[in-house]
Amino acid sequence: MRIVSFDLGGTNYKTAFFENNKLIKFDQIKSLSNMPPADTLNYISGQSKIYKADAIGVAVAGAVKNGTILQSPNFIKFDGFSIQKHAEKVTGIRTIAENDANCAAWAAHTIHRKNRLLFITLGTGVGGGIVYDGNLICGGVSAEFGHMTILPSGPRCHCGNRGCLEAVIGKWAIRRELEKMGYDISIKQFFKNSEQDMRLKKLVLRIGNYLGIAIASASNLFSPELVLLGGKISLSFDYFSAATIRSFSHRVFEVLEKTPIASSSIEHAELIGAKLLAEKMLLNIGK
Ligand SMILES: [Zn+2]
Repeated sequence: MRIVSFDLGGTNYKTAFFENNKLIKFDQIKSLSNMPPADTLNYISGQSKIYKADAIGVAVAGAVKNGTILQSPNFIKFDGFSIQKHAEKVTGIRTIAENDANCAAWAAHTIHRKNRLLFITLGTGVGGGIVYDGNLICGGVSAEFGHMTILPSGPRCHCGNRGCLEAVIGKWAIRRELEKMGYDISIKQFFKNSEQDMRLKKLVLRIGNYLGIAIASASNLFSPELVLLGGKISLSFDYFSAATIRSFSHRVFEVLEKTPIASSSIEHAELIGAKLLAEKMLLNIGK
C-alpha cells in the first residue's frame, strides 16, 4: 500500500511517502498557509500523483470536521474549506484530513498501545489530541487543549478568550514575556539560560506549573494512561518537568497521580498519524 501524508503547519509543509509501512521519502517546503487554498491543493496534488499514492492523509493545524477546516489561526483563507473533498477532486485519490495534534495522538496510541491517551503539542500554539477507549476524539473543536482557561484575567489569546493555556505557555506568549522582561534571546537560549538566571528560572517554573494544572484538569475528565508531549518546546521538557509533575500531582485525583507524563520520542508523529488514519479509511472502505 502506498500512502502519502502531509503535515500542513503555519511554518512548514512536510510530506512523507510510505510504502508498506516504510517511510521511503520525506520532503519539506515553506508553508503556503498565507496563500489561497489552490496553492496548497496544487502542492498536495503534485506530490501525490508523482508517487501514485493509494490514499492521502492530511494533518492540518486547525479545527477540522469531516475534512473541512472550520477555523485556524494559521490558515485564515481556509475557513470553511473542505481540504479533504477538494484534494480528492483534484487528485482522484481517497483522502482524509484531520487536526495535526489528533493525528499525533493517533500515532502515539498505535505505537504505545494505550487506549486512553492525551497528546499535547507545545509549539507556537498549544494543541491536543485525545484517544479514549481506542477511539480518536475528533470532529470540530477537539481537543483544543491550549484553549483551556488557566488565568481568568490573564493575557488575551489569539482565539479571543483571556488567559488560555496557550496565551501563557505557547511560544508566542513566552516571546512576549521575554520581551517585557527586556530579553532578546531565542526560546532555546531561554531554557538554557534559566539554569543561571533566576528571573528566567521563575518563568520556566511558571510554565511548568500552568502545564501541570491543565494536564490535571484534563486527566480528571478522562483518566489517560499516558500523557505525551510533542512539538519544539517539548524538547526542553527537562527544564520544567519537575514543576509540571509537582503541580499535576497536587491537583489530580489521587488514583491518577502516577500517570506518566513524558516527552514523546515519535519523530514526525503528525505525518505517521495521518498515514495511519488514511490506511484505516482504506480498510474501512474495503469492508
Ligand atoms: Zn485561546
